[in-house]
Parts: sequence; C-alpha cells; structure tokens
Amino acid sequence: MRIEEVEVVVVGLELRTPIRSAGLVQRDKTTLFVKVTTEAGSSWGECTAYPGARAPDPTPEEVEQGALDALVRRLVETCDSGVESALDLVAACSPDSVGAQSVAAALEMALLDLELLAARRSLADAVGATRGEVETGLLVGIPEGRDLGRFVEEVERALETPTRRLRIKIEPGWDRLPLEALRERDVEVPVLADANGSYDVRERASLRALDAFGLRCLEQPFAPHELEAHRRLADELATPVGLDESLWSVERVREAVRTGACGVACLKPGRLGGVAATIEAAAACGSAAVDCFVGGFFESGLGRSVNAALAGRPECTLPGDLGDPANYLVANPFRYLPTDGGTVGLSGAPGLGSSLVVELLESRTLRSRRVRLRP
Ligand SMILES: [Mg+2]
Repeated sequence: MRIEEVEVVVVGLELRTPIRSAGLVQRDKTTLFVKVTTEAGSSWGECTAYPGARAPDPTPEEVEQGALDALVRRLVETCDSGVESALDLVAACSPDSVGAQSVAAALEMALLDLELLAARRSLADAVGATRGEVETGLLVGIPEGRDLGRFVEEVERALETPTRRLRIKIEPGWDRLPLEALRERDVEVPVLADANGSYDVRERASLRALDAFGLRCLEQPFAPHELEAHRRLADELATPVGLDESLWSVERVREAVRTGACGVACLKPGRLGGVAATIEAAAACGSAAVDCFVGGFFESGLGRSVNAALAGRPECTLPGDLGDPANYLVANPFRYLPTDGGTVGLSGAPGLGSSLVVELLESRTLRSRRVRLRP
C-alpha cells in the first residue's frame, strides 16, 4: 500500500461549556487532523495539541508549523511511501518534544487505520484489549467564581448517569470545600481530585489534610518536572499520588513508577507519542503494580475511540476519560463507540472503530494543505 498524499486539516471545534481547571479555561477546541491517502483509500489521525495548552502540551499553532512539518517532510524525503515503512519511520523518529510526540501519534493513528483495514483487524485486537467494554468516568471542573451551588448541581447531574468514577478539578483555595460537599452526598463511585500542578511544593501540609476525604487518587499536585517532590508527598500521604502532566514520555513513566513518585498513572496517548508508546507505558505500570487509566484531551470520536481501545488492556485498572464526545463538543466530526454513560463498547470491526461525518468536518474546516508523496 503506497501513500500518495498527506493532508493537514485544521478544524474549528468548540466545547459546549467552558471547562475550568487550575489556571486554565478551555472553550476553543480547534483541532489538527491529518489525512493519509493511499490507492486503497484515506484514513485520519487526530492530534491532541489544543488552544491555550498548558505545559508540557503544545498548541495547534506550535505543532502545525514545527513538528508536523518536520515529520511530513521526513516522510516525503526518506520513506519509500509504503504504509509499513511510514509506521516504522514514525516509531523511530525519537521525538524530542511533546509537540513532536503529539504529531507522531496523529500520523501513527492514520497509518494504523490503513494497516488494520487492509489486514481486516480491529484496533482493540491489535492493542491487546482483553475486555469488550471499558469503564468511563465523568469530570467536574472548577465552577465559575468557585460557585459551590453550581458545583453541587453538576455533581448531582453526573451522579444521575451510570458514571463509574468522578474526577474533580481542584486548586489551592478550592479543595476542601468541594470535597466536603461530595462527602455529604455519600458518593459511592471512586473520586479522584486533579490539581493540574497548581500547588507549590511547600504546600504539603494542606495536601496532607486531603487524606481525610478517602480519595482514590490525588492527581498531579505539583508542577510536571517535580518528580522528587511527588515521591516525597507519596511517602507522607495515605492517598495515592497520581501523575498526569509529569508523564510526557515512556521513559518518564518508567522513571516515575520505578522511584515511587507515581501511585496512579493517567496515560494520555497523544502526549506519550501514540498507540505503541502507550502500550509500553501501560506495561511499565503493570509490571510495577501501579494502577493506571487512559486520560484524554476532549478529543473527537476519532482520538477517543483509540483511547478506549487502549483502555481495554489489562493494565488499565481504573475507569478512563472515555465519555461520549457529544457530551462536550458542539459538533463531533468523527463517530464514537457505543456508550451508556458508564461503559464504552469496543469495536470488533476492522480499523480504529470511528468513522468520519464528512459534512461536519468540511463545514468546520478552517484551513488545510496537502503534501503529495507521489506524482
Ligand atoms: Mg490531569
């Protein structure tokens, strides 16, 4: 199968409601997709770069003119334009930044779909999923103006669904209050609190106080580079300390689980470099008996279907961020897998398990450019 063309398509997606986490409000979800065309047809990949991204993740503008250009150029110059050799090239490109990893993941996604369609094989089978359905959980952000009434309303709405877990966003000054409100409600599903790196390493005492709430995990209290501070905190807390932004490469995941800095890992395939990298990262967690789940970047149905298949691996022991994109995207240009709000059914059909809704993508395309590999 020969690659004829790679197209980079920037699509203006938007979130239904702004999502607030520590130091970040997301509204715009402009997303970069890549389309790889062969004589057999076209497949798509989704890049997790997002507008206003928080370190270590990149914005679409950063990767569009940098890492993506470089990778496509490399594909044109060095690849014999076969899908398999292109996959090898993506795997061997030893990305030197999270931006490079996010575009490698996007290109890998499209190439993998082409390969799986040709082999009549499902992604769930190819990644070693051992379950036919995976559990999913809901996220409740920081309400505007830290309005506790709005927070409680959102929690109650979430608990009316069959969600298997609740993940709330916290930051200094917004931690005990929402957690007390949750405790009053006797929430039965596991609760994770995600601080997105917003605490200073000297605020360990206020984090120790959160032990009283019986959290399943306190996620990313400190900045991404503070691995040692997370390890020390893990020694002091009964609550498992989770990492997310700190896990920006497979090597980082290995280091974090080896040193005891990470008791729960949030694995984000787009950040780690794609499917193959996530399988390696999950295996590292599994062999260290560290619980992990697949996190997300509010992807469309395409990226999220890939995440769901990976979450079917045996090492993924906690529900992931795998809810239906229709819950948060105004328009989802790629169909998602069947979900009942608590579980997602993996696809047994050949390919990634997602399909394009052409008119939704075309009507929201902001710009695109094509690179021909063969005349
Ligand atoms: Mg997080």
